[in-house]
Amino acid sequence: MTTIDNAAAKERLEAERSKLVHQLSELGATEAGELTGDVDFGDAFADAGAATAERTEVLGLVESLKSSLDGIDAALAKVGRGTYGICTQCGSRISDARLEHRPASVRCITCKDKSGG
Ligand SMILES: [Zn+2]
Repeated sequence: MTTIDNAAAKERLEAERSKLVHQLSELGATEAGELTGDVDFGDAFADAGAATAERTEVLGLVESLKSSLDGIDAALAKVGRGTYGICTQCGSRISDARLEHRPASVRCITCKDKSGG
């Protein structure tokens, strides 16, 4: 049985996490995915419609960063419980290659392919 190196996994996840938090802050959003209000879209656009479109786009980005962040947090929680690298769906071990490529994976490739997510 292969032992997943929890310390290395944690390190990878935390590096990934701080990258996401940084990207969120660049968009003017908090870790919780909420816009802080420091970013005033109105100034950059004369047209209110364009400002709204821009805001919608930013919110979409924030949303997707936030969901990645949630995935990282879920994976980190699994590291804490000692279940990191175990598929949440079928209980099999997730391959090291997959974890290296996507550290936040909580499902094996088979379950992921089945659900399309
Ligand atoms: Zn599975």
